[in-house]
Amino acid sequence: MKVAIFPGSFDPITKGHVDIILKGITVFDKIIISIGVNSNKKYLFEIEQRIQWIKEIFKDYPHIEIEKYEGLTIDFAKTIGANFILRGLRNCTDFQYEQSIAYANKELETKIETVFMLSSPAYFNISSTIVREIILNKGNYSKFVPEAVKVDFSKF
Ligand code: ADP
Repeated sequence: MKVAIFPGSFDPITKGHVDIILKGITVFDKIIISIGVNSNKKYLFEIEQRIQWIKEIFKDYPHIEIEKYEGLTIDFAKTIGANFILRGLRNCTDFQYEQSIAYANKELETKIETVFMLSSPAYFNISSTIVREIILNKGNYSKFVPEAVKVDFSKF
C-alpha cells in the first residue's frame, strides 16, 4: 500500500493545498494530512479549528486522513508507516527549500521517498502567509480557501 503524508501547518488550509492533495490521491492509496505542531511557533488559527476545516473538506474521501504531530516530519512518517512524503511546488524558491529538506530526510531514512507535485496554474500564487495577511486586515479571503474555511472576524 502506498501511503503518503502531506505535512504542513495549514494555517489555514488553502485551495493550493487542496489541489496538491487531490492530485496526490490519484497516485497514492492513502494520504495522511499531517499538521506539524511546533510549540515555539505562533499560529493564527487553533489546531482544532484547522483540523475541523480539513475534516469538513475531505469528509467524502475515505482515503484522506488527518493527524497532528510534534517533532521531525521524517520520524512521524516512519512512526505512522508512510512510505512517501508529498510536497507541493509553486516556484523555484519552493524547490530550493524543499530540495535540501528532502536530501536531509533521505539521509535520515532511506526508505521514505519525497514526491513533489506542481501546483496548478490557478493556485501557484496562493500561500497561507498571504491568506493570513488578508484575514488579519479583514479582506476577502474566500477566493483563496475552500468553502469550509469560514473565519470569525470578531476574533481578530
Ligand atoms: P509549511 O508550514 O511547511 O510551510 P504549508 O502549510 O504552508 O507548510 O504547506 C504545506 C505544503 O503545501 C508544502 O509542500 C507547500 O509547498 C505546499 N503548498 C502550499 N501552498 C501551495 C500552493 N498554493 N500550491 C501548491 N503547493 C502548496
